[in-house]
Amino acid sequence: MKTLYGLTDKEVLELVGSLGLPKYRAAQLLGWVYQKNALAWEEIKNLPKAALQELSKVTALVSLEPFEEKRSADGSSVKFLFKTRDGHLLESVLISNKDRQTVCVSTQLGCKIRCAFCASGQGGFVRDLTAGEIVEQVARVSRMTGKKITNVVFMGMGEPLDNFDATFKAVHILIEPWGFAFGARRVTVSTSGIVPKILDFVKSVDGRVRLSVSLHSSIEEVRTKLVPINKRYPLKELLSALRKVNQGLKREITFEYTLIAGVNDSDEEAEGVAMLARPLHAKINIIPYNPVAEFDHKAPSPEAAEHFCAHLKKLGLHVTLRQTEGKEIDAACGQLRLDRAQSAERSLNTARDSGLVPRD
Ligand code: SAH
Repeated sequence: MKTLYGLTDKEVLELVGSLGLPKYRAAQLLGWVYQKNALAWEEIKNLPKAALQELSKVTALVSLEPFEEKRSADGSSVKFLFKTRDGHLLESVLISNKDRQTVCVSTQLGCKIRCAFCASGQGGFVRDLTAGEIVEQVARVSRMTGKKITNVVFMGMGEPLDNFDATFKAVHILIEPWGFAFGARRVTVSTSGIVPKILDFVKSVDGRVRLSVSLHSSIEEVRTKLVPINKRYPLKELLSALRKVNQGLKREITFEYTLIAGVNDSDEEAEGVAMLARPLHAKINIIPYNPVAEFDHKAPSPEAAEHFCAHLKKLGLHVTLRQTEGKEIDAACGQLRLDRAQSAERSLNTARDSGLVPRD
């Protein structure tokens, strides 16, 4: 069954029309869902009960269920696991700053890109999330924390541009006045670098939404090892596409750079990154590697991370260093979900070993 979360204004209008309800009911419903973030039919007050009952026969309201919540010690980030209707887990994070409440949303269950340091790809790929499942994360985090969300970043599990249609639809719902009505500059889509999709995406959103690109190295061979899609869309092509879209973008591009000790933290890398970023006026966001049990990589020391940032700054770049506040709550993408999936697997194995559950 479809859900109200994930429908556009036109689709809600059609739905309302198909039930013989007056048009203004569509605007009311959109308000309840995207502005008030209603999560149960009973919360919707100014529509007749009979109309809601008819609606609930043809559409569900929501599709996610809260599963787990984990708060960092200083309360600056909260990680949520939600359960989908088909029984999978996805994660979202709320990152709180003084004047900013940012929700980081997932776009896929698992990921196909398989970056060499990211937990999301480790459990394999299950399926794309729907636009409804993507925007419902924002509504639920807001309701569960009582916070007014100011920003949304597509930096959770999955590769947003590999789930293009749902990502585009979700962005549309987030930024339109009949939807969540976020300013477009408050929405950021991050990609590992699927070149043709970057071109399509920037065109589709008319350059209004922020674009973030996971760079991770300025050297082809190193980037191919870290982000395997670099083999298909090498740095050279990526950069030429970014030069092309840059004029059409209303805001500067951000390069995400996961800093891994001894892998991509040399002075030569810093200089290479500067060469790539400067002509684009791109900002650089350094993310110290957050250890994932499945990989042998090492996080850089705080001094090494500082040194890398200082070097880039000296070269005239706009650099931010992401504090690893999420570390204690496994805030790297897909990490909490992977841990939970693995412990579920382990308990299943224990149950099998003890003969409680048959082996399939
Ligand atoms: N698929 C999108 C969104 C990924 S998540 C993309 O690749 O951009 C956002 C960022 O976190 C990406 O830059 C990703 O490479 C990075 N990341 C993933 N796992 C990490 C880890 N263990 N430590 C630090 N950064 C990580």
